[in-house]
Amino acid sequence: MEILITNDDGIYAEGIYALANALKKTGNITVVAPDTQRSAVGHAITIADPLRVTPASRNGKFFGYAASGTPADCVKLGIKAIMKKRPDLVVSGINLGGNMGYNILYSGTVSGATEGALLGIPSIAVSLDTFVDPDFTAAAAFTVRLAASLKKRALPPGTLLNVNLPNIPPRRIKGVRVTNQSLTSFNDWFDKRKDPHGGTYYWMTGEFKATDKDPVSDINAVNQGYISVTPIQFDLTNYKFAAELENWALKP
Ligand code: MN
Repeated sequence: MEILITNDDGIYAEGIYALANALKKTGNITVVAPDTQRSAVGHAITIADPLRVTPASRNGKFFGYAASGTPADCVKLGIKAIMKKRPDLVVSGINLGGNMGYNILYSGTVSGATEGALLGIPSIAVSLDTFVDPDFTAAAAFTVRLAASLKKRALPPGTLLNVNLPNIPPRRIKGVRVTNQSLTSFNDWFDKRKDPHGGTYYWMTGEFKATDKDPVSDINAVNQGYISVTPIQFDLTNYKFAAELENWALKP
């Protein structure tokens, strides 16, 4: 099995190292990841600048390819320019911070996997719901199990798996829930500050708290100690409303 690994926290992040080490036993891994922190770039791609790719080592050993682009760039590059064989699986992560609710839209981690799905390859995004003291053990082990089941089963075209885990020891994880994307979004605001020259600048900050009670939503499952697996797709059409829009009898 050929596996392409990417992330948005950058090739030197801890999460991608844990993921790559765990997936080594599953197949041949190729790491193509951003050379710097690229969180929250969404599905951006680079078209006005060249993409530089340099070999990256970790612990004195070749680890993968660091690219001067976004996660979506890295997956395109990996598949179309770097890997000799087309991958059987794309895995993006393990991200520091959950990617649930409307955050999925901003997430570079999810976009790495989305790009894989758009190119017709089974793809998984994996995120750990914390920014402090991450324990990647359960996330890495669960991804290995998911990869094994994807050897036997197929995902529908254009569908990827968005996995989120609570940051708790593996023995305390209650189980796995197949969830839906919650309608929770980041409650964000701006810190208004002054720079040393007296100029005003803003820094976005905020909190991500569940605003729905739906027990099968991604965020509620994770908050209750479950691993959340959401099958997601990127057909953004509102079919129900499209039918009603027909009745508007729009004229050119
Ligand atoms: Mn990130």
